[in-house]
Amino acid sequence: MSASSPVSRPTPAGHVAPLPPFDLVIFGGTGDLALRKLLPALFHRYLDGQIVDGSRIVAIARDARTDDEYRTRVREALAKAAAEDPRGTDVLDRFLALLSYRRLDLGDDAGWPAFAEELAGAERVRVFYLAVGPDLFAVVADRLHVHGLIDPRTRVVVEKPLGHDGQSANAINDALGRVFDETQIYRIDHYLGKETVQNLTALRFGNALFEPLWKAEHIDHVQISAAETVGVEGRAAYYDRSGALRDMVQNHLLQLLCLVAMEPPASLSADDIRDAKLKVLRALRPITADNAAQLTVRGQYRAGAAEGRAVPGYAEELGAASDTETFVALKAEVRNWRWAGVPFYLRTGKRLPERSSEIVVTFRKVPHSIFDEGEGGSRLAPNKLVLRLQPDEGVTLWLMNKVPGPGGLRLRHVPMDLSFAEAFGGRQADAYERLLGDVVRGNQMLFMRRDEVEAAWQWIDPIRAAWQAAHEAPKPYTAGTWGPSAAVALIERDGRTWHEDAG
Ligand code: NAP
Repeated sequence: MSASSPVSRPTPAGHVAPLPPFDLVIFGGTGDLALRKLLPALFHRYLDGQIVDGSRIVAIARDARTDDEYRTRVREALAKAAAEDPRGTDVLDRFLALLSYRRLDLGDDAGWPAFAEELAGAERVRVFYLAVGPDLFAVVADRLHVHGLIDPRTRVVVEKPLGHDGQSANAINDALGRVFDETQIYRIDHYLGKETVQNLTALRFGNALFEPLWKAEHIDHVQISAAETVGVEGRAAYYDRSGALRDMVQNHLLQLLCLVAMEPPASLSADDIRDAKLKVLRALRPITADNAAQLTVRGQYRAGAAEGRAVPGYAEELGAASDTETFVALKAEVRNWRWAGVPFYLRTGKRLPERSSEIVVTFRKVPHSIFDEGEGGSRLAPNKLVLRLQPDEGVTLWLMNKVPGPGGLRLRHVPMDLSFAEAFGGRQADAYERLLGDVVRGNQMLFMRRDEVEAAWQWIDPIRAAWQAAHEAPKPYTAGTWGPSAAVALIERDGRTWHEDAG
């Protein structure tokens, strides 16, 4: 590897090499995403010595405030992170010194020339993070170009939602593509920055054990789920325009499906991985008006209980009746030789009984049992590989094992647990820490390419069209339950059940 390679080298202690000083401009630097995710992630990278003094972080919003007022706001936001780390409070001041604030209304050209002048001149990587609504993406891209703020070292990061359908996503991608090269555009899906998700690639391609079995011959089905206990609360207006299919399935769940189902890429290069994922998206069996009723279930929560307290229904939270789904379950199929006949069940929703995201790969049963499977005997359960993304990241392999003791040969389904926190110790880095570092290093492996986004929408749009044509309201479910009963029926019709932690 040459010295100029963009790929970082982990040191023996597991830390990554320092990033050269860079400029990061956060458009929307006072928003929820910036304060709750981006700045804590940057602070942790600073604590670990990956971000070095001399880097600059500029926050942009329309409010009038001084640099010091902004730093005070960020200090509050980082108080917990700083308190958890023995070095935290000592270095917090030095980290805050990297920050500055600029008042700028992105939609109004008046403030741009002065802002451009402030940034001019530095010979370094410059990242523009668009932590603002998607309606501003095109405007910002255009202003950056007009004011000469884009050069080959410039990168732009865009958050979801990247449009609300294929057409609007194309419009955003066109606007970005007019001024940025595709290699400069980082479409973030923070699920891809999670350790477990990267570990999926490590497990599949770093071990001889799994890949030979990773096919229809040995895998019965795959479940991918993302369950939330929260309702829509303060985000109701945004969520009502989106719904679970667009908010979760189009990006996070489909990306996970791609990583499970993709062919071995030729290398870990961004394009090899993204080519492999794209082929999966293109192989998905279309869901249209002809089959949507059999293959999909949409639901909306009613009043119920969550985390031990009574909670209102979606319509009450929104303050109006709505046809937006807060729950989706669907059965996808990847039509290729590897996966023919293997269902991928996807499920996501709000106000479900627990917060958990996981991928469950269920292997086929042994072809013949030599054990007594009768009453009181050992019923053989299939092996399962469970990759947990949240709340605690880790991997569990469910195996049949002998129950210890001198009696008869009795077997039990037991988990072989690899909790990351226990196995590797220390704190688990947040996905944004990894992803922000990758942007500065210029590694696009964990970011979506334009054609992937397009292919995802091409599969999602007909599902929405089928639902609209059916004129059916989402099925109600009580907050605190696992969605409408139709979601249970969707999988039980096939003689399978949704995975529960008991194995
Ligand atoms: P937010 O809390 O509403 O923050 C929006 C930020 O943008 C504020 O700093 C706001 O400050 C600024 N802003 C809005 N209009 C502006 C303008 N015309 N000029 C300059 N600044 C402007 O929203 P958010 O939750 O942080 O989300 C930001 C983006 O990330 C959205 O696209 C969202 O969908 C996406 N996202 C958020 C999360 C999350 O966890 N929050 C997760 C995934 C994706 P002023 O109003 O003071 O200008």
